[in-house]
Amino acid sequence: MIEVKKIGVMGAGIMGSGVAQVAAQAGFEVVMRDIEDRFVQQGFDSIKDSLGILKKKGQITQEQLDDIVGMIKGTTDFMEAVREADLIIEAIPEDMDLKMQMFKQLDEACPKRTVLATNTSFLSITTIATATKRRDKVIGMHFSNPVPVMVGVELIKGLETSDETVEVTREVCRRMGKESFISQDSPGFISNRMFPLFVNEAFYVVWQEIATPNDVDKAVKTQLRHPMGPLEVADFVGLDTYAIYSRISTEGSGR
Ligand code: NAD
Repeated sequence: MIEVKKIGVMGAGIMGSGVAQVAAQAGFEVVMRDIEDRFVQQGFDSIKDSLGILKKKGQITQEQLDDIVGMIKGTTDFMEAVREADLIIEAIPEDMDLKMQMFKQLDEACPKRTVLATNTSFLSITTIATATKRRDKVIGMHFSNPVPVMVGVELIKGLETSDETVEVTREVCRRMGKESFISQDSPGFISNRMFPLFVNEAFYVVWQEIATPNDVDKAVKTQLRHPMGPLEVADFVGLDTYAIYSRISTEGSGR
């Protein structure tokens, strides 16, 4: 099994910057790549904000904060991110054509040993892997938002993903202090398949005028002990993104 030392992160947005941060905190060498300097800079700004919270809580010192940021190299140069990378974690927008194009490029440019992971929320890992000649080394690594806070990472096996690839990513999760678990490749995987069923029911409760949105969230937080109410979570994810989850959950799972 390869030992991961360098991780290339594709995309410095909400998820890419979070993944780059937890990877650097775990001691990996990280290169975070986006298509424009301003996006790379925004990624660094969110990493510094997030680490600033840890510093305020007394969990890290300014020196540690600087060291963690220093472990991350930001770039717009594709080759700089992939050169000698043992693992790539892709976090570019949720668009199959974009991801296929990216995985083809990654396959051509990365060393043969490199594992290619996607943070897709619901797209097929098996399909994404067909853009490459290393289908056994393609896997889903579905982190949750906000990455530094959420503990679980869904590892999704495409039809041809090897056990070794699963083990490589499982070990990376362990070093990041994350709990990993496995899903087969199915629309929405585990979490995003079930989550909309719950949230949609909350919408119906409001629509049928049984309770206000605030009281729905309050009921779930105080009686079911969820840290956030379902309507709060839908707002957090963004209703445009949520609408996609909802469609997959009801249509994609075959019901
Ligand atoms: P985002 O829009 O915040 O970030 C995407 C970034 O990718 C942007 O900065 C964009 O400039 C960059 N990008 C576009 N093309 C690129 C390329 N060719 N190379 C490098 N960078 C490129 O999106 P996000 O919310 O971080 O989502 C990224 C992925 O993570 C999606 O697949 C999404 O479904 C998944 N995801 C999102 C969440 C969430 O709550 N936002 C949760 C879990 C998984």
